[in-house]
Amino acid sequence: MRVTTFAASALLVVALSACSGPAPTAAGPTGTAASSAGIPGPAPTAAGLTGTAAASAGAPEATPESGPGATSDPAAGPTPGGLPAPLQREPASAPSTSGAAASPEATPPATGAHADPRAVDVVVNKRRPLVPLDFAPAELRRPGVATATDNALLRPDVSTAVEEMFAAAAADGVGLTLVSGYRSYANQESTYASWVAQYGDAAGADTVSARPGYSEHQTGLAFDVGQADGACTLVLCFRDTPAAQWAAARAADYGFILRYPLGYHEITGFSAESWHFRYVGKDVSLAMKAAGTQTLEEHFGLSAAPSY
Ligand SMILES: [Zn+2]
Repeated sequence: MRVTTFAASALLVVALSACSGPAPTAAGPTGTAASSAGIPGPAPTAAGLTGTAAASAGAPEATPESGPGATSDPAAGPTPGGLPAPLQREPASAPSTSGAAASPEATPPATGAHADPRAVDVVVNKRRPLVPLDFAPAELRRPGVATATDNALLRPDVSTAVEEMFAAAAADGVGLTLVSGYRSYANQESTYASWVAQYGDAAGADTVSARPGYSEHQTGLAFDVGQADGACTLVLCFRDTPAAQWAAARAADYGFILRYPLGYHEITGFSAESWHFRYVGKDVSLAMKAAGTQTLEEHFGLSAAPSY
């Protein structure tokens, strides 16, 4: 996908690399939301976006997850006219990328338990890329629910669970919408490449876009939920909406977990994303809920993945 203008690429990122990617490590587990709006998390690497981009960088309200301090889903936010601000990802351990940042062989593949992207118990994070890096689900289906974008495909079993979850929410008077589901390696690759070009290096790109092969969205198991009326889509204030609260309380009953809970970025690698849900199956989701375990890494006894 070629983007001709910066704005276009920004939109592309917004549409494609959302949650999966960009990893804003830093947002800090600040209490609740305070960190959001304009508080820049830990030092963005590429400090401001050059040229036009800078403009919306810090725009609080409208800043999608990409906004500083906002959340982790950097590019996900549909910020009209706004460009994702550099996420607070710590480039400390930036991979040796000199241009071929997203090279599939750049990172050693995760092996052993929870490394099979075809399994619902796969764990994908900054230290556990998909294997193969360009993995794609064998089957994808668009669930029969309200959607906010065209990126609404999910694995068939996940689509069914989404349909059940959304129907239950509707029965409770809460309207949910599917904002974004599966994103391919190719989509993420082109998006990431466009950011590398914009910034001139991978370190800068990493602040606003996830590397291809490291996105949970690429498994077909994750989706971003929104409120039917579009309120606070992919932005911090979403967590205060009835949709977010209902989903947080009930998702486990349908096999989903809130993958990036507030205050656990040092483990998950992403700051809070009240809209990003990951299908793990009811056995896991209900067990985690019963135990009060907040992250997949802790549940499965895997290492924390604060950065790449
Ligand atoms: Zn997401």
